[in-house]
Amino acid sequence: MKIAFIGLGNMGGGMAANLVKAGHEVHAFDLSADALAKATEHGCQTHTAVPDAVAGVDAVVTMLPNGGIVKAVYTSDVIGKAPAGALFLDCSTIDVETAREVADLARQGGYEMVDAPVSGGIAAANGGTLTFMVGGPQAVFDKARAVLDPMAKAVIHAGESGAGQVAKMCNNMLLAIHMIGTCEALAMAQKAGLDPQKFYEISSKSTGYCWSLNDYTPAPGIGAASPADNDYAGGFASALMLKDLRLAMAGASGAGATVPLGEHATKIYETFVEAGNGGKDFGAIFTTL
Ligand code: NAD
Repeated sequence: MKIAFIGLGNMGGGMAANLVKAGHEVHAFDLSADALAKATEHGCQTHTAVPDAVAGVDAVVTMLPNGGIVKAVYTSDVIGKAPAGALFLDCSTIDVETAREVADLARQGGYEMVDAPVSGGIAAANGGTLTFMVGGPQAVFDKARAVLDPMAKAVIHAGESGAGQVAKMCNNMLLAIHMIGTCEALAMAQKAGLDPQKFYEISSKSTGYCWSLNDYTPAPGIGAASPADNDYAGGFASALMLKDLRLAMAGASGAGATVPLGEHATKIYETFVEAGNGGKDFGAIFTTL
């Protein structure tokens, strides 16, 4: 397939490379010259404007920072410029309303579109092991699989347009809550005189087990390898977790959902990021306890 890929940052760079490895012809665009140079190294054909990248393609994948940028890119440079009938896949994490609005605009322009946000981070983007949560009609989901499979360990149809973004905001709210809980339990065990490694061994095999404790232990030198072992460099930045929590709080408010722990987690990450820690991995909340 001929695929345009727009947004070749930490996530998009590796994802586009995996599409090339799978035999697709990838036409790449990013505002950053560095990102374009890396895409060339990975076998993408690069372009200096979005309309050139989307000309003649079967599908357009976007992996962009936020909903405002996603809407601007599609309305200015993709809708009406890509061939009629092309499939659009937005893999960015954005708000549900914008995802639905852009999908509607795409349909009105004669295109098919899914929202397909991801879970997994940069290592999974590079390794082709992301989990995609996909919103859109069943028939469009079936077509989208051919594009998503080479980048994925799992591709799950969440429901109609916007359902992928609903899944993503709920998942990341849950992740923030169990990460903070894991940090609290590890710090408390240590302060109460229990070797935190022992606490890890016990709780990871008890009812306290969860991904944050078992697979991404946020205390340095304890349990599973994680950015905690590297002074919280790399991993999933606290600023990005705060972005996702803000999307979740807006989504909860729109849906009339009661999310007291989600609200509290948002405040905790707000305080942490405002203190200058936005670039640190989100497990660094441990250092505040
Ligand atoms: P990033 O900032 O590394 O990459 C974004 C890229 O988009 C940059 O290269 C930037 O130059 C480019 N860009 C910005 N505006 C553009 C425009 N108008 N046209 C073309 N390119 C433009 O961000 P990232 O970490 O790759 O995240 C991308 C998306 O994936 C975000 O929505 C993020 O929330 C989501 N996400 C990130 C992770 C993660 O671990 N980093 C995990 C899951 C989901």
